[in-house]
Amino acid sequence: MKFSLPFLVSGGGIGGLAAALSLARNGHAVRVFEQSSEFKEIGAGIQLGPNVFRMFEVLGLTDAIKGLAAFPENLVMMDALTGEEITRVPVGGKAFSARFGGYPYAVIHRADMHQVYLEACQAEKGIELSVSRKVLRYEDRSDKTRDRVVLHMEDGEKIEGCALIGADGLWSRVREQMLGDGKPRVSGHIAYRAVLKREDVPEGLWQNNVVLWAGPKTHLVHYPLRRGELYNLVAVFHSDKYDEGWNTFGDPGELHERFSGERPEVLALLAKIEAWKMWVLCDREPVREWSKGRVTLLGDAAHPMLQYLAQGANMATEDGVVLAACVGLSGGDIEGAFKRYQDERYLRTARVQTTARFYGDVFHVSGVLRELRNAWLAEPSAGPPGQAMAWLYDGIRVPK
Ligand SMILES: Cc1cc2nc3c(=O)[nH]c(=O)nc-3n(C[C@H](O)[C@H](O)[C@H](O)COP(=O)(O)OP(=O)(O)OC[C@H]3O[C@@H](n4cnc5c(N)ncnc54)[C@H](O)[C@@H]3O)c2cc1C
Repeated sequence: MKFSLPFLVSGGGIGGLAAALSLARNGHAVRVFEQSSEFKEIGAGIQLGPNVFRMFEVLGLTDAIKGLAAFPENLVMMDALTGEEITRVPVGGKAFSARFGGYPYAVIHRADMHQVYLEACQAEKGIELSVSRKVLRYEDRSDKTRDRVVLHMEDGEKIEGCALIGADGLWSRVREQMLGDGKPRVSGHIAYRAVLKREDVPEGLWQNNVVLWAGPKTHLVHYPLRRGELYNLVAVFHSDKYDEGWNTFGDPGELHERFSGERPEVLALLAKIEAWKMWVLCDREPVREWSKGRVTLLGDAAHPMLQYLAQGANMATEDGVVLAACVGLSGGDIEGAFKRYQDERYLRTARVQTTARFYGDVFHVSGVLRELRNAWLAEPSAGPPGQAMAWLYDGIRVPK
């Protein structure tokens, strides 16, 4: 079923482009509006679970992603106070791959992932991409004789479409208008992110693993990017200094103070960074309804989550594929398709949102709870590697 007007997408991040691509691949016309002056991603590394590789297969992006990704051998958790290895999941081995249908675990630079999506969108005739176009608000005219949405742009233009997908991130205006549920929750956790060239990684500290050093109210994550040419660092600590912010330059003094007393390996990596960029981490309580009439939300606009399960971009991509599948099955009933999409997605994404919070707590405990965590995670796990995450890696359902 084709529509006489295009789908409109507010936001050209990973979620917006995934939705546009999925809809276009199903034969729909799509217009994407991005407020920035160019389509680009900031930030550093993104971990990719087998679940999102299932989506890459649907979108025909697997080879392009694999060509730019790095494939770690293990996910390793270390105690940042003692240097003891707490646990290790061999995600690079045959057992993991066999358990998850041959889909790998990978890591990729955000800019590389976004570029793959962008080039795929640019190659689709049905997608029109525009930058420096900020969406201010929408009107849903579903109740009128000619069903459509109208977008009001910052430059004064009014744009008509058959439906609107709000993929405009954590501070979504579309969400604000639809749900009016206020600002996201500030978690009190701050992330500093940086990328090193491989040759700048201190002697002996480069490894082809995703390593997480868990310390009291802190953790440091590192892993290779771009076929191993780069090294991604993410340092997280608790701070009540900031309310909100995104991609601003942080205060390295506070960073070093929070990690003081931790292992030399951690301090050596922190010392290599000159210009850290800082994120104030936020999420929201899960909600059940994020579609209304001909308007729906997707990605961080719908279900912002802390990054402790490394799944925000994975979930945004799943959203895009499921959304297009629901539209395809709807027989032209966009409102029904958007409801079905939301019903397919809200429990899965709510589980990721809430589990991510729990993981953050587990990473940052101290005292007896730290000892308990180390003992608990040292217990041998049942089944093949990654089995404990099967709900996440296997649990994506695309309606057919
Ligand atoms: C420290 C950290 C580590 C992370 N690690 C991982 C990881 O390992 N794996 C993973 O899957 N995820 C990870 N994430 C999460 C992931 O980055 C996000 O969940 C994902 O990028 C969300 O994509 P999105 O397209 O929904 O939103 P965004 O990426 O925020 O994109 C929204 C877009 O909308 C545009 N926009 C906003 N308002 C308007 C408007 N009014 N008009 C037009 N355009 C607008 C913005 O400019 C932006 O381009 C991490 C996040 C952080 C902070």
